[in-house]
Amino acid sequence: MNTTQHVINDSDESFRDHFNAVNEDGKRNWFYPQKPTGKWHTRRVWFTVLILTLLFATPFITFNGQPLLLFNVLERKFIIFGIFIGPQDYWLFGLTMLSFMVFIVLFTTVFGRLWCGWACPQTVFMEMVFRKIEYAIEGNATKQKLLNKAPWDTDKILKKTAKYMAFMTVSFLIANLLLSYVLGVDELSKIIREPIADHMPLFGGIIAFTAIFYFNFAWLRDQACTVVCPYGRLQGVLMDRNTINVAYDYERGEPRGKIHKNQERTEGDCVNCHQCVAVCPTGIDIRNGLQMECVNCTACIDACDNIMEKVGFEKGLIRYTSENAIVRKTNKLITPRVVGAMVMLVLLWSVLGFMVVSRTDTQTMLLRAPGSQYIENKDKTITNLYTFKIFNKTNHAIAPEIRLEGIQGKLIFAGASATGKSGPKAPDLSLEPAGMVEGTVFIIVPGNELKSRKTTLKLSVYQGNEKLEAFETTFIAPEN
Ligand code: SF4
Ligand code: SF4
Repeated sequence: MNTTQHVINDSDESFRDHFNAVNEDGKRNWFYPQKPTGKWHTRRVWFTVLILTLLFATPFITFNGQPLLLFNVLERKFIIFGIFIGPQDYWLFGLTMLSFMVFIVLFTTVFGRLWCGWACPQTVFMEMVFRKIEYAIEGNATKQKLLNKAPWDTDKILKKTAKYMAFMTVSFLIANLLLSYVLGVDELSKIIREPIADHMPLFGGIIAFTAIFYFNFAWLRDQACTVVCPYGRLQGVLMDRNTINVAYDYERGEPRGKIHKNQERTEGDCVNCHQCVAVCPTGIDIRNGLQMECVNCTACIDACDNIMEKVGFEKGLIRYTSENAIVRKTNKLITPRVVGAMVMLVLLWSVLGFMVVSRTDTQTMLLRAPGSQYIENKDKTITNLYTFKIFNKTNHAIAPEIRLEGIQGKLIFAGASATGKSGPKAPDLSLEPAGMVEGTVFIIVPGNELKSRKTTLKLSVYQGNEKLEAFETTFIAPEN
């Protein structure tokens, strides 16, 4: 809760003493929000269409032969906008997450809970899918209340069965959607086509997630935002007096009072109709000021605008605005806090951009074998022994080859096949996607190429003629 927020009625702050989703007996307050209608709701419906289209279409979009987004936590493989992040790239994943968090801080400081109301899958599915199914089957809030109190007659059984079957179907769809982001659509469709017995753990996962989503949308509902979601709880520290939020203009609305015909109005514009409370999915009264439970769904803006239109007052008593805009009639979006977050974000994105651009397809570690010495050969060459590891940082198989650069010499891998006409053949270093190969290799360099006891050798990893990576190692030789 933001303590800087103005409280409408200083004498009645009782709403702050308890959690409004729980009644005085400690039982749950089940909310029956009225169906929202109005300009903002229509906008949100269109935005939902866009969001859901993106959400369901993205797993099918491929880039360079791989999914655009993949979050395979089971195999620790991630693809973010076509960039494969394997086990070797945790720094990249960590930095991406860190910049995402800074972005969230910046976004929330400026625009409050815009994300919650418009794009969060919880709100989108709850208010725009599950709630709409409920309205379609059981009717508006009053009818829902009556139905819940009614005895279990045929009508109630049919309606409840239809509703919960529909909820279960959508939950199953969401569980599959989630899995398509974890495994990719190709893998998921393979699992669907093949016998269930071949994929019991994954099938169990789909059932478990269906049950979780069903529980969330059929029962948990608003409490997912007000009790479970950590982002909602952070709002108080992320927002300030300049943050744009859905807010009630108490300067204009107070003192509130009913409209009395043929009587000059001395009160503010709030006619105390409680419509803003009736539509609220988290059951709060926005006139009490900014509250942690508000998910910025805009339903109260529409409800109040409809009333304002009816009574002939200017719309916008509840609107997107800030505390400073209400009190001082001025708002400053770019505050020192915003600038600080922006600077940090630009720095993080620059580092991230550089790392992505300079990222190589392989990561090779080639180190002199512990305790090994150089070997002086009869043909005046010097040999050093190394151990190596090559990691494939791509999501496709590669066949790398290590070559010396800028110096005469050769590499002989332990386990290499017999020397052919063109010298010893390298062993098969083929790598699976995100795979690793390791071994030992002798590097043999003519003595006349070495000018000092310690020489820095330049090496590269190639696939065919394509250079994948360049790296260095040290080579030890006798003093002269
Ligand atoms: S107070 Fe208004 S914007 Fe906030 S959750 Fe309730 S209806 Fe939605
Ligand atoms: S809908 Fe508007 S007029 Fe009615 S109680 Fe809420 S703020 Fe006041």
